[in-house]
Amino acid sequence: MRQIEQEVDGELSLPERAALARHLAGCRHCAEARISHLEMRVAFARSAGEPHARTVPRPAIRGRILGLWMAISLIAGVAAGWFAHVRWGGPGPASLEATRATFVAP
Ligand SMILES: [Zn+2]
Repeated sequence: MRQIEQEVDGELSLPERAALARHLAGCRHCAEARISHLEMRVAFARSAGEPHARTVPRPAIRGRILGLWMAISLIAGVAAGWFAHVRWGGPGPASLEATRATFVAP
């Protein structure tokens, strides 16, 4: 996995690239990982407005992933708060039942 990253970054020596290529030819798992890794780079390059960039610097990707995760955790926190409000606060299912009971009773 680390070698795949280095290969995508162009950091591997020729013998290392040869060894990796040979391994990828026989290991479907790593070949798939390399494809999704490359596709991830394409997506980042595209989102950076450089769809035809040859490389995307790793620090830029780390920063973006960090930002993405912060956004996700923020949304998750808001969603959890909303869920808690719906479940335990405000007009919950229990009070809804009570309202219906008073409506049906007469
Ligand atoms: Zn492998």
